[in-house]
Amino acid sequence: MKTQVLVIGGGVGGLTAALKLAKCGIDVCVVEQTKGSPHLYKGELLQPKSLEIFDALGLAEPVLRSGHRINEIEMNEMKRKKGSYRLLGSAVMRYGIIESKYNFALMIPHEKLKELLLEEAKKFPSFHYIQPARFKAFNDNSAAIVSIGKEETEIQADYFIGAEGRKSNVRKAMNVSLNEHAYDHHFLTVTFKRPADMTEGKIISTPHAFLGLFPLPDNEVRTVYLIQSGAYQSLKSKGIEHLHSKYIELCPELNGYVTELREWKKIQLMIPVHFHADSYVSGNMAILGDSAHSVHPMAGEGMNLAIQDGDVLGELLCWMYRHNEHSQDNLKWYEKVRKSRVDFILSLSHLSALAYSKPFRYFGSLRNRSLKQMTDDEKLHTKQMLNISGLGIWKESFVDRLIQIGLMPARSIQNIEFLHTRYMFTYENDYPWEAKGRYSR
Ligand SMILES: Cc1cc2nc3c(=O)[nH]c(=O)nc-3n(C[C@H](O)[C@H](O)[C@H](O)COP(=O)(O)OP(=O)(O)OC[C@H]3O[C@@H](n4cnc5c(N)ncnc54)[C@H](O)[C@@H]3O)c2cc1C
Repeated sequence: MKTQVLVIGGGVGGLTAALKLAKCGIDVCVVEQTKGSPHLYKGELLQPKSLEIFDALGLAEPVLRSGHRINEIEMNEMKRKKGSYRLLGSAVMRYGIIESKYNFALMIPHEKLKELLLEEAKKFPSFHYIQPARFKAFNDNSAAIVSIGKEETEIQADYFIGAEGRKSNVRKAMNVSLNEHAYDHHFLTVTFKRPADMTEGKIISTPHAFLGLFPLPDNEVRTVYLIQSGAYQSLKSKGIEHLHSKYIELCPELNGYVTELREWKKIQLMIPVHFHADSYVSGNMAILGDSAHSVHPMAGEGMNLAIQDGDVLGELLCWMYRHNEHSQDNLKWYEKVRKSRVDFILSLSHLSALAYSKPFRYFGSLRNRSLKQMTDDEKLHTKQMLNISGLGIWKESFVDRLIQIGLMPARSIQNIEFLHTRYMFTYENDYPWEAKGRYSR
């Protein structure tokens, strides 16, 4: 079998790249190992940049229709007093502060998003999808060996994209090294019905607990509850009612909702990992999404990074075919655009993870003060929202840090709405080869 681009893995990243290629008329084949859609909880929060990408792909309408809009995330710090939790302080992060058509996030069921991408890609005759089909390795002719049913097939391609998630075999074949970090905490994650007025994102924290609530369509809410690593079995042994009470003491509105959860098997244990491949490209192979990097889920970035990688790599390959500019060097444009952006988001997510996972006595008050300063200070607030949105990067300065820890007062900045647009990625930043042409080291 022969194709121009073989995409290994039909997750959100692989499908975004494949859809872009199919739209350019490039013969693209996706192999996906699962039989149907797996019932696993995965990333569901789409950041503004990903919404912008789906808009450009002509998918804005069905994506928006299938999701629930998040305008803000309320962060409540609680303190235990006389046996129950009281509010210590509250801060609200607002997407509306960003100057963009997409100044909101969207919660969309992961499998629904994949279904929309696949449905759209299937409209193009140059798109081929083989499922279930498992990539095994490359043979001596540099072709991919894929098992389809009981048969093993050789697939030749001009380019191979490894989009098979964390345990990527393409990454192994590329022989790249990983910069890894393990965490001392895990999460329990589960979706259930929510109160109708719980329509925005909410994070509730104490020095010892963390609960994230992110509303989904159909009056559901995806929840993430932090536990120390290794605590899962002992929590389970206390019975599901014990978990209900943990949720309810942090968020009493969930009484009558979380209590509908009767089986542990609905609850998924999520083990955060953080790694970054030192290179995304080798020869005619490239890796994207979780194959190239894995991010702590605290900032809701995993699936966005995969989509954004797929967009840049897809656009680059379209250009390379259109201009007959095939070279291993040109493929490096993809890494040049994406790697530093991913590095930045990885460290942002890592810092958020540290801020919420250290059970020290005074950590709650410190966190509360710093979140309050961050949202009171217009510049810091705008930087934070721009940075997590994926629409741009505006790094924090030394003065910002002093404000955040409360050593300087919060600022009100004139023209902040125009000022921050200078830090937004332009078309030329996203796809620099269009203007610069051939890659040079
Ligand atoms: C269990 C879990 C829970 C998560 N929860 C969250 C969360 O709450 N919030 C958040 O922001 N992010 C979360 N993430 C991260 C987020 O879902 C990922 O970052 C995102 O899905 C990455 O997309 P991807 O396309 O790179 O990879 P994936 O979504 O992992 O897709 C890879 C695809 O490749 C297929 N595949 C694998 N090996 C082969 C092979 N050999 N041959 C053919 N196909 C293959 C897989 O079946 C899969 O469909 C979670 C990830 C996991 C694994």
